[in-house]
Amino acid sequence: MARKKLIAANWKMYKTPDEAKAFFAEFLPLVAAHTRDEIAIFPSPVLLPTVIDAAKGSKISVGAQNIHFADEGAYTGETSIGQLKAIGGTHTLIGHSERRQYFAETDEIVNKKLHAALKHCIVPIVCIGEVLEEREAGKTAEVLKKQVTGAFAGITPEAAAPIVIAYEPVWAIGTGKTATPEMAAEAHAIVRAEVAKILGAPVANAMRILYGGSVKPDNASALLNQAEIDGALVGGASLKADSFKAIVTY
Ligand code: PEP
Repeated sequence: MARKKLIAANWKMYKTPDEAKAFFAEFLPLVAAHTRDEIAIFPSPVLLPTVIDAAKGSKISVGAQNIHFADEGAYTGETSIGQLKAIGGTHTLIGHSERRQYFAETDEIVNKKLHAALKHCIVPIVCIGEVLEEREAGKTAEVLKKQVTGAFAGITPEAAAPIVIAYEPVWAIGTGKTATPEMAAEAHAIVRAEVAKILGAPVANAMRILYGGSVKPDNASALLNQAEIDGALVGGASLKADSFKAIVTY
């Protein structure tokens, strides 16, 4: 069965509530008739209620950029999955490279968050990817396999259906450098083979693997037309309604 593509916007730490509302006022009419792909938006936590409200009645899903793995507790500054769910959030990013790089998120933490998201029926997008030194040292496959194995520890094939993976080469995030469609497809094939080893071929074949890293309107179609690329995680180019629309409708 064909995998429906998912085009996701990571707004990082940008926009005020008024700016988020203005984005939706412009973006919703542009994609109102678009049913080919799923669309999801990941705003910063303070914007979640505004964005969930703005997306009501549309097919756009809204998720968190980060969640804590505990149900609740003394974790100052964190957001629980229950809190996200209570306000209508349905998705979460897990292990974005900026979380790994600046907030010391490890494969073990990613694994705990993945278990928590699945337990609460929140769609997890698990982000993986190599840094430049690892690619240049020929270690891309090794790094991706380690990240997949670490993230998926203890996950059963029965529970894995909602999981989405985002392959984001770290050297391509926010740099304007993009993996070529062939490089991305090759990495996706490595990731899918590793998922097949852990969870079996049927689960691996059904799992969506998105590409992220400087996806822009002018390279979206070459990337998204690769059979192995099941969507995109878009940072910078998702902040403006017209450029995100151009990517969604590649
Ligand atoms: C991202 O934030 O996941 C990302 C891919 O950013 P950008 O598109 O700006 O490279």
